[in-house]
Amino acid sequence: MDKKSFLEHYKSLDRSLFIDEGLKDRAHDDRPLPIGHGQTISQPSLVAQMTIELDPEPHHRVLEIGTGSGYQTALLSPFCEKIYSIERIPELLESAEERLIKLGYKNIVYRLGNGYKGWTEEAPFERIIVAAAAPKVPSALIEQLALNGRMVIPVGPNFMQDLLVITKDGAGKIKQEVIEKVAFVKLIDSVL
Ligand code: SAH
Repeated sequence: MDKKSFLEHYKSLDRSLFIDEGLKDRAHDDRPLPIGHGQTISQPSLVAQMTIELDPEPHHRVLEIGTGSGYQTALLSPFCEKIYSIERIPELLESAEERLIKLGYKNIVYRLGNGYKGWTEEAPFERIIVAAAAPKVPSALIEQLALNGRMVIPVGPNFMQDLLVITKDGAGKIKQEVIEKVAFVKLIDSVL
């Protein structure tokens, strides 16, 4: 990913477009904010850091788990070929889709479902990014990661997790690296 143009996009993307009217005065703080349904959007610097760690290329197909407000999706969209974005809460998915279409982001397909299972029909993915924490890396996501692929995912118990970068080499061998401690909402293994 071209880091300079990514940082320009990051600075120009107005987070207030992704949150409720009543919270707009807090949109530009580097803090997590509620997005409804008990979910939160992470602080912008962390979303940016995760995108940099993901390091997408223009020809990559990216699986995103946890569409939420669509903020992460919008940050990523110009830097990959296509995003396959899964969200389990219908109202969040609907409003994110509407918002992203209105903002002109076109290379995104949306699915209501359980991200634990990934998106079998469209696998493998060169990149996978997960915006909610699982107790361990879901095996379907490891399977659906392409050879030479890369996944960014928070893993661990509630309130405190390790942000992992998982890589699969050309022979299918998996390696993982801990980036830092993070606190994400839970990746819930069910559909609504
Ligand atoms: N990237 C989002 C962050 C949303 S918070 C943003 O920029 O706003 C995490 C999201 O993951 C929540 O919307 C939550 O509903 C969703 N989520 C939790 N478990 C999930 C699962 N199993 N499959 C898909 N989405 C899930």
